[in-house]
Amino acid sequence: MRITARPLAPDEIDYELITLSVTVAALALLIGWNALHLPWPICAFHALTAHPCATCGATRSAIAFFHGQFMTSARWNPLAFAAYCGISIFDSYALIVLITRARRLRVTQMTLLEKNIVRALVVAMLALNWIYLLAHTRNFA
Ligand SMILES: [Zn+2]
Repeated sequence: MRITARPLAPDEIDYELITLSVTVAALALLIGWNALHLPWPICAFHALTAHPCATCGATRSAIAFFHGQFMTSARWNPLAFAAYCGISIFDSYALIVLITRARRLRVTQMTLLEKNIVRALVVAMLALNWIYLLAHTRNFA
């Protein structure tokens, strides 16, 4: 695996612009939804089983995160909290490279073993997060 810094190629997908745009749109939707006091979606898995799914609490985690209540955010859904931290860091990087037209960081030359390790880590993090949510049952309804 190599991490390289290079200019964006003319036919290359601009991941920084796409990610930053999606994040801004999602944040605007979250703020608008909250401001209009619309009802939050109910988890179908929780409604059927009375147990949280792997993403239960992610919305409340996001609301706490954007209010600066990071411990509350982490308690609602640790994996969602980690994702919000990662997205915040990536979006900060994306904003800087888009404004300054700096070189883009790219991960290249990943071996099959490295890809499989990443896949296994993602599955393990999802499983551990779900175990945490099942062990710390809250009112997810
Ligand atoms: Zn759920």
